[in-house]
Amino acid sequence: MSLSTMIRPAIIAHRGACGYLPEHTLQAVELAHQLGADYIEQDVVLSSDGIPLVLHDVTLELTTDVATIYPNRHRNDGLFYAIDFTLEEIKLLSVHERTDRNGNRVFPGRYAGTNMRFQVPTLAEEIALVDQLNQKTGNDTGVYIELKRPEFHEAEGTDIYSAVVGVLSDFDRLGNDPRTVIQCFDPITLMRFKSDGIFRGPRVQLVLTENDPAMRGDFESMHTLSGLEQVATYAHGIGPDVASLQTTQSEPSEMVRAAKKLGLFLHPYTLRADSESLPGVNFAALHKKLFIDLEVDGAFTDFADKTRQLLTQLGVKT
Ligand code: CA
Repeated sequence: MSLSTMIRPAIIAHRGACGYLPEHTLQAVELAHQLGADYIEQDVVLSSDGIPLVLHDVTLELTTDVATIYPNRHRNDGLFYAIDFTLEEIKLLSVHERTDRNGNRVFPGRYAGTNMRFQVPTLAEEIALVDQLNQKTGNDTGVYIELKRPEFHEAEGTDIYSAVVGVLSDFDRLGNDPRTVIQCFDPITLMRFKSDGIFRGPRVQLVLTENDPAMRGDFESMHTLSGLEQVATYAHGIGPDVASLQTTQSEPSEMVRAAKKLGLFLHPYTLRADSESLPGVNFAALHKKLFIDLEVDGAFTDFADKTRQLLTQLGVKT
């Protein structure tokens, strides 16, 4: 994989055009394509029958009506796990704008319509839609696929890696091509992608700001040169939180400097026009900070169209 072939800057439609339509629905994918994203992101979890679904959480209750349709199907923790439902059952659910645990909308200003029905798509359905739209329009929009919680899936006795590789094979997206990117928080899964060698596109190590006992990565080390030297042995780029790119003195963080030194591309998350990703930094100022001051290689954005407009205004060639 040659990094010189990566799209730069990469405007990655985070969960589809989720600033405008419910996240990860086919409608949000269609709109993201129309808005001119370079990539459309898919977060993937498995159903009980092993089908890769495009869903951000391993549970269904914050983005669907699962608690109404299947009120007794939660586990002891009160949560409704996608892995406990067949694809056929999940297809009966309606997707809505994300809520918090109390049922309040996370982004109150977003889509509020009631006449459109949204479903949880499969990864195959999303890739098929992107392929069809590319064919019709002549665009070459890519897919940017995150395997969610591989260690959770392992504990459930399933293998999300094999399921995703199977879908990529079906769509002829295993080759050395920057239009299919794999991202994951789990280093072990990314190392498996590398050692198997079946998928030959770019691999991105996602980085949390601090360690999480439920996950296998040593994220804190990834903020240092020595930690990123290890990452560079199996990944082509990193996806850190925008909050970890600068020191308190507004200098590039050690992680940013190390990534550039090691030739790892930087695709931070997440740009939102309706919510500050960095306290006190508005949407436009955040674009300047990222793309001019820190020279990142791309970013995840909830508003791909507005990100492209701002980059044009900043004189960044897209
Ligand atoms: Ca994601």
